Amino acid sequence: MMKFIDPHIHCVSRTTDDYEALRQAGVVAVIEPAFWLGQPRTEVGSFKDYFSTLIGWERFRASQFGIRHYCTIGLNSKEANNEALAEQVMEILPLYIYKEGVVGVGEIGYDDQTALEDKYFRLQLELAKEANLPVQIHTPHRNKKVGTSRSMDVCIEHGIAPQMVIIDHNNEETVKETLDRGFWAAFSIYPSTKMGNERMVEIVKKYGSERIFINSAADWGISDPLAVPKTAQLMAERGISEKDIHLVCYQNAYDAFAQSGQMHESDFIVEIDQSQRFNGNSVLRGGRDPKIEKLDSKIIK
Ligand SMILES: [Zn+2]
Repeated sequence: MMKFIDPHIHCVSRTTDDYEALRQAGVVAVIEPAFWLGQPRTEVGSFKDYFSTLIGWERFRASQFGIRHYCTIGLNSKEANNEALAEQVMEILPLYIYKEGVVGVGEIGYDDQTALEDKYFRLQLELAKEANLPVQIHTPHRNKKVGTSRSMDVCIEHGIAPQMVIIDHNNEETVKETLDRGFWAAFSIYPSTKMGNERMVEIVKKYGSERIFINSAADWGISDPLAVPKTAQLMAERGISEKDIHLVCYQNAYDAFAQSGQMHESDFIVEIDQSQRFNGNSVLRGGRDPKIEKLDSKIIK
């Protein structure tokens, strides 16, 4: 059985069934970027609690299903447009980015490519540079090609090395430039729109496996948390080598985010122990017996 990393999934909006299915499919680690909630936050306290959840309860919750959870912390581009709130968020970010399990600043970048988005993108690039953390960049869904080029230009302008930057949500139009300029090219596999599995297979056939990796970007919208293992399966069926699949579905994401110094294969979970608690709370309900199970033998390679 192959092992996988999903380097972009919003676990707080997913169920424990998803965690079980992910582990069953071979996903051993996930990275959860900080983003918005589907509606705008009104108080900085909402950001505080959300960031605390990402480094606290959610990390614990994933571990209870055998998955090592990491996150990236940042002010998302949509909410960068509320300047008064954005200022307050910038003040608290340094309290979170140095915490255990934080593997980057993200997801940051452009949404509508406004002046305020630009301002807070740049400020957070400086923060990432100072903390020597990778940057996970959300590229805009509108005017994607221009927005993606601009994101890379701004990183270079701020003296950030391309190998420290993950350009996310690439597509056929952006991948060549992202790779040519030395950045990591991540792809979100959206069910039936944007990046379908079939299209991803074609991209790997055309561009190879160097610096390319995939994620589910699963959140509270229509999305498939199993997009990484399913796409790996399709790649295998279409004749892509096991080595390339391993790079695209595991190793490249690991190499990109391990630059944080926070991600270690030795920390991946080998035993589920649901008798554990986080601040006194467990994932068990209704007098259920805790599952205690060794996992290492299940992952062969
Ligand atoms: Zn996202």
